[in-house]
Formats: sequence, C-alpha cells, structure tokens
Amino acid sequence: MNFMDDKPKILIVDDREENLVSLEIALNVFEVEFVRAYTGMEALQKTLNNEFALAIIDVQMPEMDGYETVELMRQSKHTKYLPVIFVSAIYKEDFHVVKGIESGAVDFISKPIIPEVLSGKVSVFLDLYIQKKELEEVIREREQANRQLNELVNKLEKTQSELKLAKENAELANKIKSLFLANMSHEIRTPMNGIIGMTDILLNTELNEAQREFVDIIQISGNNLLTIINDILDFSKIEAGQVALEKINFDIYKEIKEISRLFSLKIQEKGLRFSTSFDEGIPQILSGDPVRLKQIIINLVNNAIKFTELGEVSLKVEKVKTSDEIIKLLFKVTDTGIGISKEGQKKLFKVFSQTHDSITRKYGGTGLGLAISKRLSELMNGNIGIESEDGKGSTFWFTAELGPEIKIQAHSEDLNTDKGGASSKSLNILLAEDNPINQRVAMFNLRKFGHTVEVAENGKIAVEKFSKSNFDLILMDIQMPVMSGVEAVEKIRKMEKDTAKASPIRIIAMTANALKGDRERFLSYGMNDYISKPFKPGDLERILFA
Ligand code: ADP
Repeated sequence: MNFMDDKPKILIVDDREENLVSLEIALNVFEVEFVRAYTGMEALQKTLNNEFALAIIDVQMPEMDGYETVELMRQSKHTKYLPVIFVSAIYKEDFHVVKGIESGAVDFISKPIIPEVLSGKVSVFLDLYIQKKELEEVIREREQANRQLNELVNKLEKTQSELKLAKENAELANKIKSLFLANMSHEIRTPMNGIIGMTDILLNTELNEAQREFVDIIQISGNNLLTIINDILDFSKIEAGQVALEKINFDIYKEIKEISRLFSLKIQEKGLRFSTSFDEGIPQILSGDPVRLKQIIINLVNNAIKFTELGEVSLKVEKVKTSDEIIKLLFKVTDTGIGISKEGQKKLFKVFSQTHDSITRKYGGTGLGLAISKRLSELMNGNIGIESEDGKGSTFWFTAELGPEIKIQAHSEDLNTDKGGASSKSLNILLAEDNPINQRVAMFNLRKFGHTVEVAENGKIAVEKFSKSNFDLILMDIQMPVMSGVEAVEKIRKMEKDTAKASPIRIIAMTANALKGDRERFLSYGMNDYISKPFKPGDLERILFA
C-alpha cells in the first residue's frame, strides 16, 4: 500500500466551533483531512485511533487547556513526537514554562490568525510528516527485505542440511556398494581361480593340437573375464580419477592377433567374417597399457559380433598423429549388424545404458562396457564415438595416445611365460585353504616347483599345525570357515611373541578379495605379503622368494 493513499490528518482543537471552521478555511489549500475536537479530553481520545501529521491546539480552553493537553500527549507513546502548533492570544514566552512540551516539534501562532503565516508553518510540518512517512516506508521495505533474506537464509540452511543428509546417505550407499562389490568379487574370483589354475595345469599335460587350442582359448577367455571383473571393480576408481595406466612395451600386432583368436570361435559359430587391418608405418612395439587398450577393443568387437547376425566385423587400426613422444592411433570396429537409431546413440556411453529393453533380453550384457571404454579412452587422452544407421550396422571408433617403444635394458624375466622349473630352494609350506579345488591348484603348482605342502582346511587347523611342525612359510587364505586367515595370523604372531621366536614365519595372504588397498590392510594384520587369486604359477613362485 502506498503511504500517501490516505490524506494526512490534522487534528484541530478549539472549544469554539467558529475558530475550527476558520482554521479549516485558512488551510483549505492543503490536501488534508481535518479531525475536530472541542476539548482537550476529546483531542486525547481522537489521538488514540488516528495518526496525525500535526495538531493545531487552542491554548485557552475550559477544563483542560492546550498546554495540559499536550503535556498528557507527550506521555503517550504514539503522540510523544506529534508536532503541535499552539494558537493563543497570550504571549509566546508562556509556553516555555509548561512541562513536557519541550520535547518534539512545537510552534506557536497568535490570534488573530494570519492565514499565510499559519499556512507557512503547516506546510513545514506537513513536509516533515511526508519525509517521515517516506522514511518509515523505506524502513518497512528494508525490514521486509531483511525478513525475506532471513527466510532465504533459513531455507538455504535447511537445503544445506538436507544436502548434507543426502550426501551422507549417498556415502553410505557407496560404502554398501563397495562392500557388495568386494563380496561379489570374491564370489567370482574363487571359481575363476579354479578355472584359470586348472587350465594352467591342463596345459602342462599331454594334449593334442586341437585340445591345446581349446584349453588356450579357455585360458585367454578366463584371463579376459578376470580383467573385466577387475575393471568393473575399478569402475568407481576410474570415476574418481584414481586409476593410473601402465606404461610398458607391447607388441600391438600380437595383441590384435590375440583378440582375433579370442573371437575366432564365436565368428565361426555365427558364420560371420572377421578382418583386421593396420595403416602403414605403425611401429610393432609401442608403449602404453595393453590390458586397458585391449579391454576397449574387446568390448567393441564383442558388441559388434553380438549385434550382427549376417555379414562381417572389421577392426581397423589407423595412425592419427605421430611425434617423438606420442603415437596417436584410431581404432575402428565396423559391423553389418542391427545398427543404432539416433535416439539410441544419445544414450550410449552412459553407465548401465542399453538402447532397447528387448535388446537386453535377447543379447544380455551389463550396459557397462561402453561407459568403461569411454573413460578408458579418455584416460589415454582419446575419445570415443559412433557412426551408425538403424538396421545398417555401426562403426564404433576410439582414439588413444600411446608412446614409442621404451628403450631400457630388458629385464630377462618375461611376465607372460611361466617356464616353471626348480626354484633355488625347496620349501616346507603350510597351505591354509578351505576350497578343495583351490587346494589342488595351489598344491600342484607348489609341488611342481619342488616344495612340500601340507594343507589346513581352516585357520584353526593352520594354527594347530603351525604349533606342531616347522614350516618355512604359510600361504594363508583369508576367508575360511571356523577361523579366518586374519584371526589365525593374529594367533600365530602371538604364539611367536610368547615363545620369543627369533625369526617369525613368513606368511603370505592369499585371497580373491582383490580390491585396491587390500595389500596395505593385510600387511597391517601381520602378513608379510599378499597374492591375489587367481594367480599364475610364476607369480606364486616369485612371491615365495620375494
Ligand atoms: P552391454 O554389456 O550391455 O553390451 P555396452 O555398454 O557394451 O553394454 O553396450 C550398451 C548397449 O549399446 C548395448 O546393450 C546395445 O544396446 C548397444 N550397442 C553396443 N554396441 C552395439 C553394436 N555394435 N550394434 C548395435 N548396438 C550396440
């Protein structure tokens, strides 16, 4: 509401009506409302329910004169500062002796009234009143703004605490997810240890050419599956920017050949054609992270085969840019399959996205592959994309920056070959492992290297056996029934302390719990080292003497 919507009110007080009338006439130039009072008492009453800009009060009135009236007004909160003009035939000096009227604006006009003089004074007071009202309006607005600001601050604080709660919930959900992943990882890795371990053993037996080929494929597939499990586990780490890529030399032609071999059976089964081609001048040995690079290619080729019923799948490797330090390659996987609509293409590369529900039902898959591939290619300073037409096939491409061959003195050890053979020393090993298949895998490999092995099915038996015989080393599974590996190690370390054993036994934790940070955790439990299942025989032998 505008403060000037109502006219300013002037209280005029006089016991004689003709004086009131002449006051109103003298001031008729002002846009004001006059409120009349015939006595001091009536004037006081009128101030209770009116707000006045000014009061013009006759001094000489019966019962309560003008001075007494103003004195009483000054005692009330809302008339304390009401400007007053006294009208009197008495000398001006008189009103100085009146108590209580010194405060606030007071003026004096003598009778007979000269209309111009009165108007001049009233005009000053009215201006002051308007200024006062304007100021009040500003204050009101400011107070309202403050109130709104406070409301906003309150809302903000509420939102902040809601956000904090949401964040805490999200963190909790994340923890639960990590726990779930850890458990899932264990559940999957345990049987994988059996598969990969047994194929290793099988490859060491007499096999005909075809059988060897099949076992090779089982082994490669097993290893790739393991890589993928690890990558799913790593996915949140990639998201958090905590995954560091390797930089090692690798043979790009050999890796691509391996991928062709991996898919040869599937290609054959589906009656498709598969071809690979390389741009001229791509060096054979490059440096980078071959496992991660292959993971992207495998994912794209796998999808291409999955979504193609007729025709062919091709993998092209092109050179985009070469310098002394960087070799940027473009990988293109083209198929003649079902293709992807423009709408579907928008959803790609997002976590858990699949273009159609019906596709999921028909072809399976997690919808994680492309999201992981995108992040991995970005980690290699590249990017990923698609060109596709519904029903006419697709080309998935990605770029990756690799390096030239790193020239260092070659380490004689070839990590990809397990030559076996007798180790420098044969050890007496206590193997604590509850899973019978894993027992056999580990036993076979350890015996192959000339070690003697005794098995304990759980932590409790391991502690008992440790107390009775002299072992050189313990391989300790972590998750076991009756007593866990961690508990058993605690007991063994305590026994060693109690008997003041000179050299504590070397204990190697063996677990399918391959989450990052596990190593540090196991070492803090009193283990000396850590090997993650499934392991290659060579890795096991190396860690025994590490
Ligand atoms: P998934 O494990 O489900 O295959 P991806 O992230 O690898 O997960 O793929 C996501 C979805 O993208 C697939 O489910 C499919 O709908 C679509 N897609 C991927 N590659 C192709 C392709 N070559 N042809 C047609 N659709 C594809």
